[in-house]
Parts: sequence; structure tokens; C-alpha cells
Amino acid sequence: MKIAVLTSGGDAPGMNAAIRGVVRTALSYGMEAYAVHDGYKGLYEGKIDLMKRNDVGQILNRGGTILGSSRLPEFKQKEVRAKCIENLKALGIDALVTIGGDGTYRGAMDLSAEGMPCIALPGTIDNDIASTEYTIGFFTALETAVDALDKLRDTSFSHKRCTVVEVMGRYCGDLAIYAGIACGAEIVITRDTGFNKEDIFRQVQHAKEIGKRHLVIVVAEHITDVQKLAEEIQANSPYEARASVLGYIQRGGDPCAFDRILASKMGSYAVELIRNGIGGQAIYCKSLEVGHCPINEALGKDNVPSDLYRYLSRLN
Ligand code: ADP
Repeated sequence: MKIAVLTSGGDAPGMNAAIRGVVRTALSYGMEAYAVHDGYKGLYEGKIDLMKRNDVGQILNRGGTILGSSRLPEFKQKEVRAKCIENLKALGIDALVTIGGDGTYRGAMDLSAEGMPCIALPGTIDNDIASTEYTIGFFTALETAVDALDKLRDTSFSHKRCTVVEVMGRYCGDLAIYAGIACGAEIVITRDTGFNKEDIFRQVQHAKEIGKRHLVIVVAEHITDVQKLAEEIQANSPYEARASVLGYIQRGGDPCAFDRILASKMGSYAVELIRNGIGGQAIYCKSLEVGHCPINEALGKDNVPSDLYRYLSRLN
């Protein structure tokens, strides 16, 4: 069998680990692995190369995507996708692994329906793919946001300020709420919490009343202009206020261990599906739920060995 892999849409740390997982697992099963450069654009232009083991060496720990990414709005046209399928079929490629966000998923769904079976991997820092609890890149972006928030809190404390910080996530509030919890933010504002200025002013006032020297407010992007919000908080509360927008720094950097593992596992799993003749599927991961059981039961059970053992030999 021959399979191809591409990265598309917004890049995310861990995409390289996923590419490596796909290529190495495919080779371990005696398949041929091809790389498509620059996402669907490169697919249309026929930028497709055969990959060897060492082409994915030294990339597990690197941010961004070695294959490049792009946006091709014309991919929504059936004729454009037909040319892409033709390019893959000309090389005898049987299936395609796409790594990206929901736009990339839509493209993969169309390609699958039109004759090129695709497996879609969730590669986005936004954590906004409904089927999966976590996307590749989310935890790395979270670490970056947490690191920045911790630093901003230091200076917020020194100057007794209210610091308003915008984090990414597109229309999903996960990065904001996770970062907010990890940093002890006093207020988190996302689509899920709603945005009510009077309420925020009241909470800031309350923070003063209970003796808070400073406070941190985390706001998801696309909610409001944080600069203006900081000015309004300063005008309506006893705190001086400052705003920071973390921006694209959250998309870069070396993937954290969790993202490397998640991406490796998902990449490997995608190849196993293809090998079993399965296409038109999205890979998900679940679940980090917290639950409870009687203490004696907790002690009585043997630890279940990690399912990672079964992937190890395929990744080297
Ligand atoms: P992401 O995959 O990160 O969500 P985009 O939304 O930009 O990023 O989508 C990446 C690419 O997927 C687009 O440039 C386009 O080529 C393709 N795409 C997006 N939406 C669709 C769609 N509705 N149908 C087919 N292809 C799409």
C-alpha cells in the first residue's frame, strides 16, 4: 500500500510528531509513505515526495510543520479536489492522512466521498474539534500561555494592577479556561461564560473588598478588545489596569511531551486504520475525566499497562 500525509490550516506544535508517526508506522508495515508539501495547495500542485525513515528523523521535538501548511479556499471546488485526487492516484497512492483543524477535516471528508479515503488527525492549538477531548498542539499552547500568564502576574502583583490577557483558541474557550485554572486567574471570559461588563466591574470591585492586591483576567480571543476593556476597568474600579495580547507565540515552540505522545499515537493509529481498509474517519482521544471509587478498590487493582507499548516498535 501507499499512503500520503499532509498538514493543513493553522500549524500546531506536535504536527511533526504526527508526520513521523505516520511515516514510520507505514514503513514498519512495508508500505510506501509520501509527503505532500504545503497542505491542500501542494496537493493541487503535485508537490508530493517519497519519504524515507531518516526524512522524519530529528523532528519529533520540533515545533511547526516540516511539510509546511497553507490555505487554499479553492479547495471547496469539486474540480480542484478532482485534480488533487488525480495527483495522488497518478502515484498509486491509496489513502491520505490529513493533519489540521476543522477546515482541513471538511476537505478530508469531501476527498473521502470522492474516492480518496482520508484519515483526519486533529492538529490545532484551539482544541475546537468536537469529536476529540484534546487536539495535537493544545497542551503545548497551554504551557506557553501559562508561562506568559505567570510572568504577567509577577508584574501585576508588583504594581497592584488588574491585568487583562487575551489568549488564542479561535471561537473555543478551552485555552482560556485551562490557562485560567492553571494560573489561578480571578476571572475567565469565554463564549461559555458570556461577556457582561457590569458583572466584570462588580467582580473586580469584590476582589478589592476581599483584599486582593492584584488580579488577572483571562479573555478568549474574538470576545472583546482587551485594551478597551482594561481602560474601562481602570475607569470603573480601584485598580490600575493593563492589557496584553499573547498572539501567535502560542502557535510555536517545541511540543510538550503530551503532544508528542498524542501525535505519535494518533499518527500510528491512522496507518493501522488505513491498513485495515478503513477511510473517511477522524481520530479522537478520550478521556482525562476525574472520578471516584472506594479506596480499597483503588488499592486492589493492578495498574493497567499503557497502550503505548504497542506503538513503540512502529515508531523507530
Ligand atoms: P484549519 O484546518 O486549521 O481549520 P482552515 O479553516 O483554513 O484551517 O482550513 C484549511 C484548508 O482546508 C482550507 O484552506 C481549505 O483548503 C480547506 N477547507 C476549509 N473549509 C473547507 C470546506 N468547507 N470544504 C472543503 N475544504 C475546505
